[in-house]
Amino acid sequence: MKLMEVQSLIKSFGKHVAVNDLSFSIEEGHCVALLGANGAGKTTTLEMLANLQKPTSGSVSFLGAENKDFREYIGYLPQYPVFFPWMNAVEYLVLMGELSGMSKAKSLARANELLELLGIADAKKRKIGGYSGGMKQRLGIAQALIHEPKLLMLDEPVSALDPVGRREILELMKLLKETTTILFSTHILHDAEEVCDDVIMIHKGELAVSGSLSELRRQYQEDVIVVSADENLEAWARSIENWDVVTKVISTNNKVEIYVKNAAETRNQLLVEIAEKQLPITKFTVGQTSLEDLFMEVVGR
Ligand code: ATP
Repeated sequence: MKLMEVQSLIKSFGKHVAVNDLSFSIEEGHCVALLGANGAGKTTTLEMLANLQKPTSGSVSFLGAENKDFREYIGYLPQYPVFFPWMNAVEYLVLMGELSGMSKAKSLARANELLELLGIADAKKRKIGGYSGGMKQRLGIAQALIHEPKLLMLDEPVSALDPVGRREILELMKLLKETTTILFSTHILHDAEEVCDDVIMIHKGELAVSGSLSELRRQYQEDVIVVSADENLEAWARSIENWDVVTKVISTNNKVEIYVKNAAETRNQLLVEIAEKQLPITKFTVGQTSLEDLFMEVVGR
């Protein structure tokens, strides 16, 4: 079932068109990654969906109802959440619950439940000002979930965190996606690939690619063999470009990326060639292109 449907969304700031004719839908129960480079229009899009910015034109329907105020169904974590540092987590969440129209008792019960779920119950009576970045992000997700929204929207939930914090939030998102539809923005493609079911890739405010991750993989993923060496392999790279089994060769410094029709069939042929030419290779990896490669292709178009 479609939870949200976005049609021809446009947002202009003066002459600058930040979001241009964007259409997509979000299926209930899916975890969707909104991908784009800096300035692509991710925050502007999410803010329009969260009813925090008015679109210049276009429509957003939620559960079939068009352009209604559906904020009660949405939980939103902004890119730069602001907390009251003198409050503790329980006080903050209860306030957020009450602001969204819940009773104090219900807000308190839900706050305790969420602090437990998000793994910060031990720190619930500590002042938020002393929280780490990862703990603040967890608290931000808790405030977004306080009123049991149907759709959780997270704007760049991991980009400001260190590797440990990032891992923790990614694991948390994997847990949350079991029970809540999630739309999150990121420019860290590897993270998106790890948690999302569907992808919406935008470039300069326009939709570039969208679909389920598995379908995009099927459509765009290519086998690639990467060879690194102690010396520049440019001349060798050019010499294998015309092999029937090779679709593309990219050579940079001492590394050659060889896109092939079937890596399993080509790797031995390449290893024999490398041995015959006595190339001083340091690394030989067989794999497939990632979402990042597709993204780079889109951005480079
Ligand atoms: P980032 O990853 O850097 O946060 P983003 O994909 O979220 O980027 P947006 O913040 O949505 O991108 O911005 C999209 C474009 O719209 C940018 O060129 C930005 O400068 C412009 N923009 C955003 N908000 C405003 C505003 N209030 N006034 C003028 N221009 C704006």
